[in-house]
Amino acid sequence: MKKAIYPGSFDPVTFGHMDIITRASQIVDELVVGVLNNSSKNSLFSLEERVSMITEMTENMPNVTVASFDGLLVDFMKEIDATIIVRGLRAVTDFEYELQIAQANHVQNSDVETIFLTADLQYSYLSSTIVKEFASYGGDISNFVPACFIDRIYQKYETK
Ligand code: ADP
Repeated sequence: MKKAIYPGSFDPVTFGHMDIITRASQIVDELVVGVLNNSSKNSLFSLEERVSMITEMTENMPNVTVASFDGLLVDFMKEIDATIIVRGLRAVTDFEYELQIAQANHVQNSDVETIFLTADLQYSYLSSTIVKEFASYGGDISNFVPACFIDRIYQKYETK
């Protein structure tokens, strides 16, 4: 039974995240999308809002669940009995940080392995930051996030 966690801020979740969730869910038996409650990061969406958006997005995926966590990822993984971390790699700029974190997590717990999925070419430019940047100026974000989230994102900036 291979249980994995896909951790992130997901502020907000994008088509790029969704692509990783879909592909990872086909590799492992159970995938938990772990939404980080990071108090030091100023997030646009509350933890509850981020969890509920991902829950909506994944409702037709039977082996995917959504949970929030704070503190160390390796500690949360022990709690839920997961041993695999899934991360997405968009460009070399992601690589250095990801490599360090993956190695640090493995040192913390040698049962923990990180697997990287390369971003789909059509989403390799896409990040939550890009979504927020465009939305803040009322730009078109329909290629970035599902249609049902567009108004919710604009509302945060009171644009459109
Ligand atoms: P974090 O704050 O941990 O970087 P994010 O929500 O930005 O959280 O990203 C979570 C994970 O999703 C990271 O592994 C990131 O590299 C990956 N990711 C983000 N955007 C994309 C994308 N467009 N395609 C593939 N992976 C992505």
